[in-house]
Order: sequence, then C-alpha cells, then structure tokens
Amino acid sequence: MTKHIFVTGGVVSSLGKGLNSASIGMLLESRGLKVCLQKFDPYVNVDPGTMSPFEHGEIYVTDDGAETDLDLGHYERFTNTITNRNCNFTTGSIYNSVIMKERKGEYLGKTVQVIPHITNEIKECISKLAGPDVDVVISEIGGIVGDIESQPFLEAIRQFGQELGRENVLYIHLTLVPYLRAADEVKTKPTQHSVGMLRQAGIQPDILICRTEKTLTREQKDKIALFCNVDRGSVIEEKDVKPFLYEIPLILVEQGLDTIIVKKLGLKTNGHNIGRWLSMLEIMKNPQYSAEIAVVGKYIGLQSAYESIYEALTHGGIGNNARTRIRRVESEDIEKTSAVQHLEGCQGILVPGGFGERGIEGKITAIKYARENKIPFFGICLGMQCATIEFARNVCGLKEANSTEFDTNTPHPVISLLEEQRQVRVKGGTMRLGAQPCVLKENTLARRAYGMGSISERHRHRYELNNAYRERFASKGMVFSGFLPDGQLVEIIEIKEHPWFVAVQFHPEFKSKPINPHPLFKEFIKAALQVRS
Ligand code: GLN
Repeated sequence: MTKHIFVTGGVVSSLGKGLNSASIGMLLESRGLKVCLQKFDPYVNVDPGTMSPFEHGEIYVTDDGAETDLDLGHYERFTNTITNRNCNFTTGSIYNSVIMKERKGEYLGKTVQVIPHITNEIKECISKLAGPDVDVVISEIGGIVGDIESQPFLEAIRQFGQELGRENVLYIHLTLVPYLRAADEVKTKPTQHSVGMLRQAGIQPDILICRTEKTLTREQKDKIALFCNVDRGSVIEEKDVKPFLYEIPLILVEQGLDTIIVKKLGLKTNGHNIGRWLSMLEIMKNPQYSAEIAVVGKYIGLQSAYESIYEALTHGGIGNNARTRIRRVESEDIEKTSAVQHLEGCQGILVPGGFGERGIEGKITAIKYARENKIPFFGICLGMQCATIEFARNVCGLKEANSTEFDTNTPHPVISLLEEQRQVRVKGGTMRLGAQPCVLKENTLARRAYGMGSISERHRHRYELNNAYRERFASKGMVFSGFLPDGQLVEIIEIKEHPWFVAVQFHPEFKSKPINPHPLFKEFIKAALQVRS
C-alpha cells in the first residue's frame, strides 16, 4: 500500500518546500523505496505556461508535455522519478476539471461546491500517483497555511489522512524561526502561530523542519516541540546551505529525518545509501578546475527564471571535476554597449530559451562574438534560433534575416512558425511540447557527446529552422547534427571550424542531474575548460 507525505509551509513563502520535498524523496530512494512527487499550486491559472518568468520563474516541461512549476525540476534532479502531468495541479486545473464534469452532467441533480467536489477532485489527484509499485507519494502544497487559496487543499489533505488512516500519512511542516538582530534572539512564535493555523484546519503536523540562520538551542527546540505538540526528535533544524543546495539531504539525514519518516510510516527498509551523493558533493565543494560561463538572457536578475540552466551548468562542471562560475549578462546591456565589454574573459557562452523581441539583438551579438572568437557556445531553443539568424546575417550575407516571431515581414524568414502551429490561436498548452525523438548524425559533436544515435529530449516552442535555407547554410559550414526521425525538423545545429558550437531546439537542461550531468552540458564545460581564463 502506498504511503503519503504532505509537505506544507508556514510563516513566509520561499522557504524551500520544493527542495525539501525533493531531498526527502532522495533520502527515501536511497533506502530502496520507490517515490513519486507532486505539487499543488493554489493560483487560478490552469498551468504556469502563460505566465511571464518575472511572475513565475522558469516553466519546467515534463516528458508528456505538461508546462509545470519549477519545483518539479528539483524533484527530477534529486531523485530518479520522471515527472508527468499528474505531478502538478493548480486551483485552476482542479476547477477546470470539476466544471467540465459539471457541464457533462456528471453531478446531475447536485449543487457543486468546494466541499465536497473540489476537495474530492484534489484527493483524486493525490491518488493518481499511488499504485502497487509506489511506496511513498510526496505531495507539496504550494503557498503557506493561512492563505485563502490554500484552504481547499488543506481540507483535502486532512480528509485524505482521515480516510487512509493516520498511520499511513505523514504531515511535514516547513517553517521559519527568525532571528531578530535588535533583540539578539530567535523567535519561535511565528512557528507556533503557523502550526496553530494548521491545527485549526484539523492537521496536526508530525514533523517540523525549521529554517533558521542561527543554531537552535536545546531549549528552543523543546519549546517548539511542546507548544506545537510535536515529538522532540521531530523538530528538525535547517540552516541555510547556499550555495550548495545539494547539501540539504545531508542536513536532514544528520538529524535522522529519514529514520523518523520510515518509523512513523511503518516502512520496512534498509539503511540509507548516499555514497554517490556524497562523492558528488565532494567534487562540488572541492573541484580541481573552474570555468566561467556567460549566460546571456533577459531575466538575468532573477535566479528562478533560468533555474534548470544554472543547475545543468553546475552539473556539467561536476562532470569535469570543475566549478562552473556563472556570469549573468543582460542581453540588452550588450545592445547598449558591446559584446566584448560584457563577455571578455569568459570561457563559454550560453544563450537560453525565451520569447519575444526584447533583448534579441544583444543575444545575436553575443553569438557573433562567440563564433568569431572561437569561444565554446551553447544555444538552447531561442538560443539556437538566434544562432541561426546570426549565421544567416553574418556568414551567409542575408542582412535582414530574422525569425517571423520578431519580424513578420523579414525577406529572409530563417526561423518560421512550425507547420502544426499555423492554425493555433489558443495560448495555453498549445506549443510543441514534451519529449520528441531525435536522431543524431555520425561524426558530430552531438553524436559524440551522447554516445548514441537516437535520443529523446523535451521541447517547448512554436518556431523552427526554416528548411528552405538548409542547403545555403550547409554550404557555408553549418552542420545539421540532429533531426526529428522523419528528417523534417532540424533539432541540432553545429558550426565547423569552431572548437565547440552546438545549438539545440530542445531543452536538455530539464534532464540534467548532479549525479548524472547531461552529456551536452558536460561536453560544453569540457570545451570551456580548454579556453584559457
Ligand atoms: N520563442 C521561440 C519559439 O517559440 C523559442 C521558445 C523557447 O526558447 N522556449 O519557438
């Protein structure tokens, strides 16, 4: 029978519920258990796909083409689970489903209400991940207790525990124990209040994970345990681990969290085996080499906008016994000044995915700089499209080449709308999304990196390289190294006469893990390490 863990948050948001859920998943896996993770987001959008990175951060894409919350990226990086569309639900998607059922007449004769219809729908979504081969489902509830939007989710997980039996369900609450400098004291009251609020909703947490910048004394932990009605040993202290977020599982393991969880849930397991994780951390903390990579984007001030990219670059470093230092470059700054001013001295340049015209010319200038100065270049999605435009303009002499996304009247639409997108008018969930097969050409950088001839990668785009220009590009030294198996779509381009210039139409960053770096990121960093800093 599948057991369930619910992770809630209190006091403030951004405490790292996603990272903690992922870490718990990793620790349970290290004990030989099969886990699945999911996240509930209380906002009303059906999915985050239509939100700007400024609003929401990166959109994480699953194999089955769901546009989801970036916490699912943490789940995949920390564990072996492969997420899917049942791993992220929002208030909007829950209501959408209930309203569609109502229109079909599935509740005929009934008044449709938050309780029981919305809460039942939430419980069904939790159950979707349970099954004979799954030991534990970890469900993270976004937002914090006390939010109006969270209430139906808390009621649903309360009912779920009641129905399944409390011995099969565990509630873990992540909370903040702030330090007040003026008083030189840590304060437990906000935690008491947030647990109080959970208990009002009928949920008694079993375990508290207390985020804190100061070490908690024994008395402080006892006080939290007593007033929150939690076992003394189940008050876990979690101090900040930046910049090594992969250390979170260690903090938890040192305080025996995995042992507490398996005991409380009555799970039969061996001890944990985290040897591989520890070796990875060792390299990460004491690497032999270092490479500086410039990421040229337009949400550079916002860490979460390129979360998976930054992580995959770090993994690529780990794979080469190196630290990846990331230089964040705002593409519009290049437009205002010059490429050399912002890119000089870096050992690799990456242009990530994106939408819309802002900052495009700066990205193209950065790519020209990488190509001409033979600096390793990695283009991803929009980054590949910009690389194509740059090549068309500056190598093939098609001065006004562009993507029709930015200039519908360009005389040289080297990037144009995918055929399948031409009739699409609705915005949500309608791009070319999810895993697609790709075949690799022999004797190319991509083929050598992957070490195999056919791969699968995740996509999220509407535009593609225009096949009408293929011959012209090839004659000037562009190599098409990856294709959709029918040959109709170019998925990877490279440039001859350059140490490492690879650009891909898909998003390899979503599949990179610290203990299994993505081959393209690993090779990119390897090439960067050849460049003198
Ligand atoms: N805007 C481009 C497209 O839709 C690139 C998308 C992306 O980088 N994810 O094709």
